[in-house]
Amino acid sequence: MSVRYEIGDHPEDAGEDTAKPKRPVIPAMLRGASGRCMKCGEGRLFEGFLKVRDTCSSCGEEFHHHRADDAPPYFNMTIVGHIIVPALLIVEVMWRPAIWVHMALWIPLTLILAFGLMRPVKGALIALQWALYMHGFDPDAEDDLPVPDPALQDRR
Ligand SMILES: [Zn+2]
Repeated sequence: MSVRYEIGDHPEDAGEDTAKPKRPVIPAMLRGASGRCMKCGEGRLFEGFLKVRDTCSSCGEEFHHHRADDAPPYFNMTIVGHIIVPALLIVEVMWRPAIWVHMALWIPLTLILAFGLMRPVKGALIALQWALYMHGFDPDAEDDLPVPDPALQDRR
């Protein structure tokens, strides 16, 4: 899929009620899931297997605002579990294979799915945060973490 305009720059993306341009969620999440910058679709989102770049190498969009935290593994486990468990039960009910067949089938499949979905799920969640202007992705937002008042610190 090749979209040449940057999300947020297209005239149809401009919201009427807000000053900030609308960022379509699904296209952004698809770009994030493919490991690409959710804004331009060109630059890379990750610099390691799961390490997120600070900025887009192509358009300069800042990625360091993301707060994916433990949401990607949560959704990863939910997705993998909803694939493996029904498949395992269907195979057991229909064919009743030996236990070693189950072990040989489901353990590798679970590992392949879990590792294979790590980057797409994390990329999609970071793109979701970006599209919804969450955390530091909102240029108008104040800092996420409150800045401690130096006057209060002296009173301890
Ligand atoms: Zn970019």
